[in-house]
Amino acid sequence: MVDLNNISLTEIVKLVKLKKISSLELTNHYIKNIEKGKKLNCFITTCFDETIKNSKTFDAKKNYDSLLPGIPIAVKDLFCTKDVKTTAGSKILENFIPTYESTVTSNLWKEGAILLGKLNCDEFAMGSSNETSFFGNVINPIEKNLVPGGSSGGSSSALAASFTPATIGTDTGGSIRQPASFTGTVGLKPTYGLCSRWGIVAFASSLDQAGPMTKNVEDCALMLEAISSYDKKDSTSINKKKENYSKNLNKNIKGMKIGIPKEYRVDNMPKEIDQLWSKGIDILKKSGVKIIDISLPHTKYALPTYYIVAPAEASSNLARYDGVKFGYRSNKGKNLLEMYENTRGEGFGDEVKRRVLIGTYVLSSGYYDAYYLKAQKVRKLIKKDFDNSFRKVDAILTPSTPSSAFKIGEKTSDPISMYLNDIFTVPVNLAGLPAISLPAGQDSKGRPLGLQLISNSLDEQRMLNIAFAIESEISFKQNLNRWWE
Ligand code: GLN
Repeated sequence: MVDLNNISLTEIVKLVKLKKISSLELTNHYIKNIEKGKKLNCFITTCFDETIKNSKTFDAKKNYDSLLPGIPIAVKDLFCTKDVKTTAGSKILENFIPTYESTVTSNLWKEGAILLGKLNCDEFAMGSSNETSFFGNVINPIEKNLVPGGSSGGSSSALAASFTPATIGTDTGGSIRQPASFTGTVGLKPTYGLCSRWGIVAFASSLDQAGPMTKNVEDCALMLEAISSYDKKDSTSINKKKENYSKNLNKNIKGMKIGIPKEYRVDNMPKEIDQLWSKGIDILKKSGVKIIDISLPHTKYALPTYYIVAPAEASSNLARYDGVKFGYRSNKGKNLLEMYENTRGEGFGDEVKRRVLIGTYVLSSGYYDAYYLKAQKVRKLIKKDFDNSFRKVDAILTPSTPSSAFKIGEKTSDPISMYLNDIFTVPVNLAGLPAISLPAGQDSKGRPLGLQLISNSLDEQRMLNIAFAIESEISFKQNLNRWWE
């Protein structure tokens, strides 16, 4: 019998198609893993009865003609799932049961996948460590006192611990790539508009994108192929033909040009991150790639710009949680206004309140021009830097994060130091570009480190191919001793 914890999604799909394993056997395997791994606190909701029922239906129908035939998959609890609780990691949505399914998850089910459960995340996806979740923090399977990254921390941890063979997250400023980097997994944030945002609990609508988190690049291509689609229900969805990312995946990157931006060499960056970056550059050179030094001069403004634009949009998006339409309602207060105030005061956690306050402030009259409008202008300049670079190079290589996974509680009392963790990931969201983080090494403490590849809009295939080539040279191995079982 194969060790399902040590094979890829692609290999599992093959086994199902060859009838070597049934959907029910797979489901039972993951349920067992999840039940033995409760300590990691990855799940907010499980729906095992339904999963088992759906697996049996799949096994009876034997319809293998899809990308994810009978594969059980857990998803971030930011995706609305019909009749299954969707909390966004918040008390305010603690009992929210959507009457509709997000486009991205319905694409998964159309391809044959089966829902295993909903994964923990930072509240409304605001955070870099999964410590802002109302449902408690998640533990990184790498080491018991480490955060799994955020906001898709339940996703990264569940994937690394093999509670699901692949998963999906959302990335507004790094929430797929940073947790992937912290757990030794692969995470891809697609071009803005490639995956529909319909049915995803909104954080910052001009930045939010759903994307795959997987154990290797090949799986990532497969999952991206499954979830991306044009969707009339999302006005920012790109109307284009579906791509066969997995079929077209290849390692032939000879002759390509890769840019190395000098602005990503920040103060106090651990030496190990710098060494990892050099290792990536060397591998590319050996693969026949031309390395070109580039400059993205407005990078230094990306973090402050993000922390104006994202809270501004969040403050507007979160206005709907007022205790009337859906979600939690406080029973305190003498009148409507007090009910609103108490509902929001009791229903939102501190980080969400901080963002709503910042967002309301930067949008208020008198400050709008000084903050929000200025940030929008800088955003344009950040995008222009990338446009200029992509005239010269095919993709850009940087580290994914300025550090490896940090300790639980290490940054919770200092929001700025937490925000600084997003320094390499946010520029891509502001520019709407795709980027992938892939595991490339470990630091001296054995904690995984990721490299990030950024490509031009809708150039995911080329980006995946480069990642595929790097991956095969690095042959990153993660040996988890499953200490949590
Ligand atoms: N860590 C970033 C934030 O807190 C990014 C979050 C995300 O991508 N959802 O805003």
